[in-house]
Amino acid sequence: MNSRLFRSLGYIARTRRADAHTTQIRRFSCETKHLYAHEHRNPIPKFSPAQLPSIKLQDAQIEINWETNVQSKFHSIWLRDHCRCPQCFHPITKQRLVNTFQLPPGIKPVSAQASPQGLEVTWFSADSHKSVYPWTWLQQNSYDPKFDVGQDHDKKSLWGSSIQKNPPTVEYNEVMSNDEKGLYKWLSNVHEHGFSFVSGVPATPEATEELSQRIGFIRETQYGQFWDFTSDLAKGDTAYTTLALGAHTDNTYFTDPCGLQLFHLLSHTEGTGGETLLVDGFYVASLIKERHPKAYALLSNTPIPAHAAGEPTSIYCPSPSSGYPVLGHDIAAGKLTTVRWNNDDRSVMKHIHPDVVEEWYDAISTWYKYLTSPECEYWVQLNPGTAVVIDNHRVLHGRSAFNGKRRMCGAYIGIDEYHSKLATLREKFNPNAYATTSEHIINGRSIWHPSL
Ligand SMILES: [Zn+2]
Repeated sequence: MNSRLFRSLGYIARTRRADAHTTQIRRFSCETKHLYAHEHRNPIPKFSPAQLPSIKLQDAQIEINWETNVQSKFHSIWLRDHCRCPQCFHPITKQRLVNTFQLPPGIKPVSAQASPQGLEVTWFSADSHKSVYPWTWLQQNSYDPKFDVGQDHDKKSLWGSSIQKNPPTVEYNEVMSNDEKGLYKWLSNVHEHGFSFVSGVPATPEATEELSQRIGFIRETQYGQFWDFTSDLAKGDTAYTTLALGAHTDNTYFTDPCGLQLFHLLSHTEGTGGETLLVDGFYVASLIKERHPKAYALLSNTPIPAHAAGEPTSIYCPSPSSGYPVLGHDIAAGKLTTVRWNNDDRSVMKHIHPDVVEEWYDAISTWYKYLTSPECEYWVQLNPGTAVVIDNHRVLHGRSAFNGKRRMCGAYIGIDEYHSKLATLREKFNPNAYATTSEHIINGRSIWHPSL
């Protein structure tokens, strides 16, 4: 939890007079609304090598004038620390070499000038150390102000039930082909929509396991590595029964819930039912943010403890044990990043602040109402031959009850494995997104890559 929020919660705790209650809740929700509002970002400045920006040296800062009334300011210490010359940054390992703590206090440039290669800075030092920073890199990393550097490949499409008309799908043969284009398409689908089907998969555990490994290491858990199971309660979890399961995310009881979940129905005999339910948690969150801002704030700020304790040999709880809120945010970027929700696995809400108990139950009821609304639910009957991979940090899944015998297989893949694979595929198929010149590409990767 972020410190401002923490302070505001403390403030609530100190002023628990009944008459102050409503005001405090309002203060609380306004403040959090502000925190989670999309941070205002300026459009990225126009820039052409034909007209280089002008540079102004200030006290401990360098000001770059991109165009009239659009400037970025960078602190000298920040720039010096981010020098990427071969003495300061290892071009192969992409690790910092400069000793940040040996830079002189109050470090200043001797001179700074604009060149087609970028901002060139010469520093006061025995060796007149020189740094060059590409313009695009300075724009992407400008912090005063921040620019809107969102790229096409980064867009997310929120969806409701109408996704059923055209759900994202790729072909198994495409995904398995050596050139990795199909794999890129598959993971780009997952990035944009939070899930994607793969059709034409041989209905065997072997082929499904191979498909999973296309993305990265399979994550081993108490359910095994690659799982292949029937409704026999082999593990103490409702997933191993024939009961209906409401929309939930998996592993709310882990500190780090699995990133992707892949599953494939291999057979269903002697019975019917067992439709799969998918719900876009980001879409539901967007509706609640707009229509019920107070509920949104509570869903974002109230940590929920959880447990997996159906097996005598293990008890899983997240760390910290007070758990995580339903809606997790990247506070610095002002973005929703993670949905965690499984009401069945929720533990005792003993950390909840007494002033918000009823409001929080109202907030999760609102959440539940949207999760189960026809505008948000996407029901689909899976069949042998079609696997589905879902982003477990965004899309909730469930199923209707069934009878007969189902055989299901699948795997978990960590969120970092998935992000890493997608990032390398973008680098391969979308090199223009990382605009730097070829001399910056060392060992296949630019030293100015935006992830570094
Ligand atoms: Zn250097």
